[in-house]
Amino acid sequence: MGYTYDDQNIFAKILRGEIPNNTVLETEHSLAFRDLYPQAPTHVLVIPKGSYVSYDHFAAEATDAEIVDYVRAVGEVCRLEGVDLTTGDGYRLISNAGANGVQEVPHLHVHILGARHMGRMVAKAD
Ligand code: AMP
Repeated sequence: MGYTYDDQNIFAKILRGEIPNNTVLETEHSLAFRDLYPQAPTHVLVIPKGSYVSYDHFAAEATDAEIVDYVRAVGEVCRLEGVDLTTGDGYRLISNAGANGVQEVPHLHVHILGARHMGRMVAKAD
């Protein structure tokens, strides 16, 4: 059994230019843009341009070039947002996957949250 990717998801539409986004950084293989419903003063989503549903999918099937680009893009957004640990006060990365991870959009994304204290790591499930 392989991974299933739904190319009608909203981030696929953003990548195709079908709906707008508030871009923070674009690289060869990655795109970072502001979350539409920010949960913190800094709330940026970083996605690979390739069709990967989750972190585990990306780790299994992305090229080395895509992985390096993506990891560096996440770090660069932290620097651009001033939350990195050379000048800022830190941040939290979250990547939800599947039903138990409560993933809403089935295209890999890392949330970068910061510019405020982020509180406890995991809230009690509803
Ligand atoms: P997740 O629950 O991890 O799948 O998170 C999906 C995130 O995408 C949520 O934080 C939404 O607020 C965000 N989101 C949904 N649609 C858009 C959009 N068009 N542009 C930017 N962020 C979006």
